Amino acid sequence: MSFKNKVVIVTGASSGIGAAAAKLFSDEGARVVMVGRNEKKLSAVAARCASPLVIRADVSKDDDAKRIIDETVKKFGQIDVLVNNAGLTINSGGLLASDMMSTYDTIMNINLRAVVHLTSLAAPHLIKTKGNIVNVSSIAGSTSPMNPGAASYHVSKAGMNHFTVCAAAELGVHGVRVNTVSPGPVRTDFFENAKLPIGVDIFAPMTLLNRVSEPEEMADLILYLASDKARGITGSNYLSDNGMAIKH
Ligand code: NDP
Repeated sequence: MSFKNKVVIVTGASSGIGAAAAKLFSDEGARVVMVGRNEKKLSAVAARCASPLVIRADVSKDDDAKRIIDETVKKFGQIDVLVNNAGLTINSGGLLASDMMSTYDTIMNINLRAVVHLTSLAAPHLIKTKGNIVNVSSIAGSTSPMNPGAASYHVSKAGMNHFTVCAAAELGVHGVRVNTVSPGPVRTDFFENAKLPIGVDIFAPMTLLNRVSEPEEMADLILYLASDKARGITGSNYLSDNGMAIKH
């Protein structure tokens, strides 16, 4: 799957799934644009990629989102692939807690609003290259929450799933594909960043295959969907969850 001369933006490239995807795109010859906020983590991942463009930015800030697209086009002249991967959850008390709306706003702004914004800003450039978008959602977007307090995250990913379909419908006539990857549990910094009192391994027995995934497995799927091998695939949601959704 060669991405030689392709320009690929990966948001949330400083860690986990985004870091694995940035590295794999780079290994396959892409000119990678790595987006994240944590400078130290970004530098560590960038050191493993071939001359990436590193942009320290918060995807939920409108000026930063614009800067991501502007700096990419200024440096490389084109955009072929946008991977909307940056995302988080917050350990919150849920609907009965006083932080419900601040939690909801933060999660929705990062996990969904930023995706809509970056898609809108990148679309004119993707139309020129007949490029594509891969959104990193979650099985949370199509399953009921297992714990109280997870509503905002689940809603953000359900919104992303349907936005993918809407964007695919709107951009398909211009030759631009839009797809979703929905991971189950993956071994990343996600749970630690969310200050959740659990580790990812707790989910293994909840899957059919009794395992959790490594970030590289998601990167493989992201690259497949972004590649020409998937030229007939748009508006689709690919689960890679060790069978967790159907067991759930
Ligand atoms: P990590 O916490 O390891 O990585 C999250 C990435 O998102 C980091 O690079 C982080 O960058 C970035 N990020 C978060 N907020 C922002 C922001 N406002 N602006 C820019 N970058 C941001 O978790 P994962 O790799 O696991 O998560 C990647 C995606 O996968 C997320 O969308 C998550 O919802 C999804 N997912 C993960 C699952 C899992 O089990 N791990 C399961 C299902 C879905 P920085 O810290 O530098 O800001």
